[in-house]
Amino acid sequence: MPKASEEARTQILATVREFVRRDVTPVASQHDEAGPYPSDLVDKMAEMGLFGITIPEEYGGLGLDYTTYAMVFEELARGWLSLTGPIGTHSILSYAINKYGTEDQKREWLPKLASGEMRAGLALTEPGSGSDVASLRTTAVRQGDHFVVTGNKLFITNGRRGNVFMLLARTDPDPSSSHRGISAFIAEKGPGFTAGRDLDKLGYRGVDTSELVFQDYRVPAGRVIGLQEGQGFYQVMDALETGRINIAARAVGVATAAFEAAIQYAQKRVTFGRPIAERQAIQFMLADMATKIQAARLMTYDAAAKKDSGERFDLEAAMAKLFASEMCAQVTMDAMRVHGGYGYIKDLPIERYYREAPLMIIGEGTNEIQRLVIARNLLKKYQV
Ligand SMILES: Cc1cc2nc3c(=O)[nH]c(=O)nc-3n(C[C@H](O)[C@H](O)[C@H](O)COP(=O)(O)OP(=O)(O)OC[C@H]3O[C@@H](n4cnc5c(N)ncnc54)[C@H](O)[C@@H]3O)c2cc1C
Repeated sequence: MPKASEEARTQILATVREFVRRDVTPVASQHDEAGPYPSDLVDKMAEMGLFGITIPEEYGGLGLDYTTYAMVFEELARGWLSLTGPIGTHSILSYAINKYGTEDQKREWLPKLASGEMRAGLALTEPGSGSDVASLRTTAVRQGDHFVVTGNKLFITNGRRGNVFMLLARTDPDPSSSHRGISAFIAEKGPGFTAGRDLDKLGYRGVDTSELVFQDYRVPAGRVIGLQEGQGFYQVMDALETGRINIAARAVGVATAAFEAAIQYAQKRVTFGRPIAERQAIQFMLADMATKIQAARLMTYDAAAKKDSGERFDLEAAMAKLFASEMCAQVTMDAMRVHGGYGYIKDLPIERYYREAPLMIIGEGTNEIQRLVIARNLLKKYQV
């Protein structure tokens, strides 16, 4: 992917920052607590072109690079993590079509995805299959020029609001076919494909995470991504690597918001006659928080830069996602410590940041799975 010009990057970041400052931060906690779905904010994100950040300009997107993509996710998460949901898994389908789709598929889908006219998601996880992707049980059986899909998906971001999904289903019924028996479809909602129940969540609230139900859903054979049957596992694993960059960036954004709240509060809160910011115990906590955030940010940008230069980046993306998400959990907890009792109640956003942090540990492959990826890479690199 070509590097975004400095000017294009500066411009989009300034626009997103202003949007977050003016429209998001003042209402985030209230929206997160009580809903409803923030249609107005999501529509503004579509107007800014955020549904097509990395989609090439020839297909109607902004054509920006993954470093800029990471920075945009960081800024949004700083305001309200939930707003990264509608564009996060949307970008997974866009990525897969752009990289693996046929020219006809790109021309048909990418412009609608870039404008936000179509809202996408990733239909991968099932009630019995999360980390172990190859064990998924949703089936797609060929009948003439269609596949008939039956099965259930769970935890699907944009599940209710989205209208098109990267759907992973088993096209080879032989269980020994494992990874090679899975295909990826561009699946548009319609008869036989509906949203089931919405899931109530600890954090990342206000946007939909739902069950999806497929009952004799007919999808044209022409919607297998790239017309490459049996390649879905590899396509989705590749797409999820870019997703790990956005998860790491989200963690940096949430942690930054928590840190900034803590350093401001520490200078105002007086105990025993002095602001707590004058106590070394608090200063050390703030220093550690800022240092870890900076390390996570640089790891995230490094993974994104490798992706932009066309190098392999699976190791760097897994490390960034692992480090940034664990860092975010620690920093949001420390921000709560700095705030004392005020951090625990809903008058301030600290408790929200703390509830948001675990998503980054679980999403786009849990941190145990990241450690497996990292260890596999290292053992290969240092093979004796
Ligand atoms: C809010 C939210 C939004 C989500 N959005 C989407 C979405 O849009 N699309 C989608 O497809 N999915 C989505 N997911 C699902 C998410 O990707 C999965 O929850 C995640 O991959 C883990 O799968 P699981 O929940 O089945 O846990 P499991 O795979 O059952 O894992 C349970 C525990 O065992 C550990 N574990 C599993 N296997 C191993 C192993 N081999 N070695 C060591 N430890 C292991 C895991 O790390 C974890 O700690 C979302 C989840 C959440 C909570």
